[in-house]
Amino acid sequence: MNTFIQTIEHAENIAVTGHIRPDGDCIGSCLGVYNYIKDNYPRKKVTVYLEPMAPEFRFLNGYDQVKHKTDDSIYDLFIVLDCSDETRIEPFADLFKRAKESFCVDHHISNRGFCDDFMIDSGVSATCELLYQLFDEDKISFACAECLYTGIVHDTGVFKHSNTTRETMYIAGNLIAKGINTSHIIDDTFYRKTYLQNVIMGYALLESSLVMDGKIIYSFITKKWMDLYGVTGADLNGIIDQLRVTEGVEVAILGYEMNNLEFKVSMRSNDYVDVSKVASYFGGGGHIRAAGCTMKGNSLDVINNLLRHIESQLKLEEQNERDH
Ligand code: AMP
Ligand code: MN
Ligand code: MN
Repeated sequence: MNTFIQTIEHAENIAVTGHIRPDGDCIGSCLGVYNYIKDNYPRKKVTVYLEPMAPEFRFLNGYDQVKHKTDDSIYDLFIVLDCSDETRIEPFADLFKRAKESFCVDHHISNRGFCDDFMIDSGVSATCELLYQLFDEDKISFACAECLYTGIVHDTGVFKHSNTTRETMYIAGNLIAKGINTSHIIDDTFYRKTYLQNVIMGYALLESSLVMDGKIIYSFITKKWMDLYGVTGADLNGIIDQLRVTEGVEVAILGYEMNNLEFKVSMRSNDYVDVSKVASYFGGGGHIRAAGCTMKGNSLDVINNLLRHIESQLKLEEQNERDH
C-alpha cells in the first residue's frame, strides 16, 4: 500500500482542497478523492473546500457538498491536490495550518513540496492520472471514475497536449470500462460555450497580436471589457488553446485584468520554450508547456516584461539551430 492511502487510513476527519480558481483537474481530483473515501471508508468524515466551481461540473458526485468558505475546524488530515504552492490554497490556508497532518498529490514541475508528506510526479498529464495510480483500481466507483476522467480530459486538452502518454490513454481506457459517458463529459465540460463565452473568444482573437516574427501571439482582456459583458476568468477557457494553434506560433499568452492593473497571465508553448521558467520568474508556476502567473501594471508593462524573458529563450533556440 502507498503512503497516500496509508495516511488516509490513519485519519478519521479529513479535508480536501485544490487551488484557487479551480480548473477541471483540480475539481476532478478533489471530488475523485472525496468519492474514493466515501465509497471505501464510509465511517470517515470527508469535506471538500474549493472556491466556487463552474456550473458545467455540477454532475460530478459531491459537487453540491463542497464548502466555499473556511471555518474553525481542526482536521486530522488536510489533503492538497493539483496545487503547486502554499499561496494557491489561500482561502483555506488557516485550515491547512491547523490540521494535524498534510499531504500533497500533484504534477506541477514547480512544486517544491510544501506539505508534511507529498507525491509529486511532473511526468503525468494530470493530478487525476496520478490519483488513479495511487488508488486500488477495483475500488474506483463509477462516480470516482467520472471525476478522474474529467480531470484528465481537461489537463490534456482532450488527449491532445504533449503530456498525453500511452499510460494516460491506458488509464482513460480503464476509466471508460467503468461505464462512464465520455462524450457527455467531453462536450458538456470542455467544448460547450455560452453565447457570451463565444463572443469574448471572438474579441480576444480579433484583438490578438503577433510579435517576434510571428513566434509569439498575445491577447489582453481588460477589466472594463469583462465588466461590460459580465464575464469572469472562468469564461475565458479555450481562448489560449486557440491562440496556441495559430500557424508559426511557439508561445501563446493570454492576460486578463483580475483587479485594476493586475493581470492573470496564462502561457502555452509548442516545442521548446519553457513557460514554467518564465512564470516562476514572476512568482507563478506550472508546467513546461503550460504555466501561469499574476503580474502588476498595465498590459503594455506586462507584455514587455514577459517578452524580454521569452525572447532570451527564443534566441537560445535560434543559436542552437545555427550550431547544429
Ligand atoms: P492556466 O494558464 O491558469 O490554465 O495555468 C496553466 C498551469 O499553470 C496550470 O497547471 C496552473 O496550475 C499553473 N498556474 C497558473 N497560474 C499559476 C500561478 N500563479 N502560480 C502557480 N502555478 C500557476
Ligand atoms: Mn489545475
Ligand atoms: Mn493539473
